[in-house]
Amino acid sequence: MTPLFPALLDPDDRPALRFGDDALTYRRLAGAAGALAGSLAGRQRVAVHATPTIHTAVGVTAALLAGVAAVPVNPKLGERELGHVVGDCAPDLVLAAPGAPLPGPLAALPRLDVDLTAAGPVPAHEPPPDVPALVIYTSGTTGPPKGAVLPRSAVAYDLDALAEAWDWTSDDLLAHALPLFHVHGLVLGVLGPLRRGGSLHHIGRLDAPVLAAAGASMVFGVPTQYHRLAGQLESDPESAKEIGRARLLVSGSAALTAVDHARIHRATGLAVRERYGLTETLILTAARAADEPEVGAVGRPLRGTEIRLAPLAGPGGPSRQRSGEDDGLGAIEVRGPSLFTGYLNRPDATAAAHTADGWFATGDIGRWTESGALAIVGRSATDLIKSGGYKIGAGEIENALLEHPAVAEAAVVGVPDPDLGERIVAHVVPAGTAPEERELIDHVAALLAPHKRPREVRFTEALPRNDMGKVQKSRLPRE
Ligand code: ATP
Repeated sequence: MTPLFPALLDPDDRPALRFGDDALTYRRLAGAAGALAGSLAGRQRVAVHATPTIHTAVGVTAALLAGVAAVPVNPKLGERELGHVVGDCAPDLVLAAPGAPLPGPLAALPRLDVDLTAAGPVPAHEPPPDVPALVIYTSGTTGPPKGAVLPRSAVAYDLDALAEAWDWTSDDLLAHALPLFHVHGLVLGVLGPLRRGGSLHHIGRLDAPVLAAAGASMVFGVPTQYHRLAGQLESDPESAKEIGRARLLVSGSAALTAVDHARIHRATGLAVRERYGLTETLILTAARAADEPEVGAVGRPLRGTEIRLAPLAGPGGPSRQRSGEDDGLGAIEVRGPSLFTGYLNRPDATAAAHTADGWFATGDIGRWTESGALAIVGRSATDLIKSGGYKIGAGEIENALLEHPAVAEAAVVGVPDPDLGERIVAHVVPAGTAPEERELIDHVAALLAPHKRPREVRFTEALPRNDMGKVQKSRLPRE
């Protein structure tokens, strides 16, 4: 395999990383990460206290240079989850920023501080492609978190395929404000620019004036960040104009609503590109930089990635499906060079996540659009509603609700119903005074087929969300 970070082998004084006041050129990054890699030689796995700091980026880079698997750990995990993660991956030590206090289970490990001023040689030997690069824990909505083992080859392959899709080069300056313990912020957001020899500016929060001042050519964000940004840009045309100079705005990790897509486009002149992936698979599809993006779709499969849609099974499955009413929906199954090799210590869960013929079952439901892009309907467990013999994607109803001016946020779920199988219930955060329930139901009925209208609307002050801003539907009442 070619080296993971060619730009670190022959480093110069171009900017590599910037987090607030902390910045490193390629020369200094090579020195700091090279020195740390030297102290990691011979280890198997290291935990990284993954605060949104330059130290996390340097620590992970050092581990990868040394051929040691890095386990980025969410610093905000509760004691119990943290105990599970540390017990499960049994790291040799923990990498942290000097002086950063560590939570209990991490504090019990031997500690190595990331010294930004150190200078050592980058190891000359490139580890084999099948060596684990990262172990990333899924957020564990269905049991204790599982560690997805991602080999170096998957990371390299995915970043190169994305670079092709987005014309990503060493000239690009990426800005984002994502956490560093998931694929999005860490693999795409840190390792992405470093693999290209480009630069990253982590801006802490995706705030309009800060983003405008960063002068980025590319921006990565999650839908909740773009939602907030859209609101700011509407009253800050100066920042909107500056941000509009970027080449590419990318959204992922959850669906960007059609309304926010339109608001960002109006303010900046830029159409946000969506991409789709999971911890276990890295990025699978992306809207290309050169293509006109399709609202509601996440682009075509990346080079080398195979995607198939399997018939939907289970209660209310194909046999009960009314013909012509499934909108071409299927269970998304994938194969390709960017996939994980399995869950750490969990051969049972690894086997359960694959089909008998070896495809990884994402648990998502999707359909192909006419142009060959994939549209994500949502998670089969929480976003597919089976009502009156129809299969209905919650996202479509949420998008329709969001078109109503009195709706700020919406999450639609199916709740058990003796008559319909499941009944469509909308949880709505109102924008100001809550409208009449009837008004919202009629609004959806006017936009979508009659069987897609909510039977009930429940108003709430906030939706439950995780640290990526994803709505946690499993925490909404199912009765
Ligand atoms: P869990 O631990 O339960 O698997 P998670 O949300 O943390 O949850 P991730 O692997 O981080 O798991 O997220 C992957 C999921 O995010 C996908 O399965 C998909 O449902 C969703 N997702 C990612 N990108 C998009 C997108 N562009 N549009 C819609 N959904 C998306």
